[in-house]
Amino acid sequence: MKGCKYGTHRVINENVLPQPAIKVNNDMNIYENEILIDVSALNIDSASFTQIEEECNHDVEKIKSRIIEIVEEKGKMQNPVTGSGGMLIGTIEEIGSELVDKTDLVVGDKIATLVSLSLTPLKIDEIIDIKPDIDRVEIKGKAILFESGIYAKLPKDMEENLALAALDVAGAPAQTQKLVKENDSVLILGAAGKSGMLCCYEAKKKAGKKGKVMGLVRSDKQAQFLIENRLVDVAIVGDAQNPNEVLQKVLKANDNEEIDLCINCVNVPNTEMSSILPVKDDGVVYFFSMATAFTKAALGAEGVGKDVNMIIGNGYTKGHAEVTINALKESENLRNIFKNLYV
Ligand code: NAP
Repeated sequence: MKGCKYGTHRVINENVLPQPAIKVNNDMNIYENEILIDVSALNIDSASFTQIEEECNHDVEKIKSRIIEIVEEKGKMQNPVTGSGGMLIGTIEEIGSELVDKTDLVVGDKIATLVSLSLTPLKIDEIIDIKPDIDRVEIKGKAILFESGIYAKLPKDMEENLALAALDVAGAPAQTQKLVKENDSVLILGAAGKSGMLCCYEAKKKAGKKGKVMGLVRSDKQAQFLIENRLVDVAIVGDAQNPNEVLQKVLKANDNEEIDLCINCVNVPNTEMSSILPVKDDGVVYFFSMATAFTKAALGAEGVGKDVNMIIGNGYTKGHAEVTINALKESENLRNIFKNLYV
């Protein structure tokens, strides 16, 4: 039997998609357009893991029981308090007959799912280990990927944790690669963060020698780090929550010219206007930050009479996993930075 490509056939007693559903059917007999994964580890979303850890007083046995309880109740690992999930790593065990010719996966491939655990049917047989420092839960279990579910094949020539760290923010560098044109002036807010550094790297490649990539960071130390590692042409120290300061400093760094593109990679609210103000009319603002408010961006741009194109940072864009993994493969520098910081 064939199910809905978005997985609604597994939602129990509600007319919603699997993500907001209270409960999904986690029977591991697959439909013709589903893929069965033998799961080895869950990477629980940081907000979710922290909440469970606190609820269980950091007691590992209690955390294990709570995770098993949630999955038994909901058929998926969706934290009932934060609503968030995470991603998983596993090996392809079975591919539904409808998908065999459509997918590039074969049985035995190792993948990371790039759709949230908050919508992925999951069954846990046993929790083997919990690694609280990286929010990882090693398990024996199975999960189902719907026809629309995205994934990345884990590269055989790269540490799993390194690939996972970068895949978490894969949408940002891939969008950057698509948005930046040769000779562009580009501002990246939060340039020393995980997505920020990947965006700097891609922007420098695309903008070329005559382009200008400017990274806004909070401290002199971060600025020096970006310059030393040649991730930006200019490092600006400033507060992304202070739009006037950002505008003045960016204009100064860019020969008094407004810029072509701003990429927002910070993790705090109230940075919409710092992203919009420095950009020229018909320029582009790419909001990757989850702390972006639509109303603040839309009304804010209108309020200052800026005709800029604003893009919501979809976590997915075609080829995002490949772009991100390739960046780490081709730049030894970036790879070492990521290994030191995130593995
Ligand atoms: P990250 O590594 O924590 O980087 C955030 C950076 O922003 C840090 O370098 C931080 O500096 C900097 N920052 C914070 N406040 C600032 C301020 N007032 N002025 C200047 N810089 C400031 O985070 P990430 O993993 O790259 O994620 C970045 C954002 O993307 C988050 O909001 C995350 O939720 C979002 N995200 C979006 C998607 C999507 O699908 N759109 C997917 C994944 C993540 P310090 O280190 O000094 O604090």
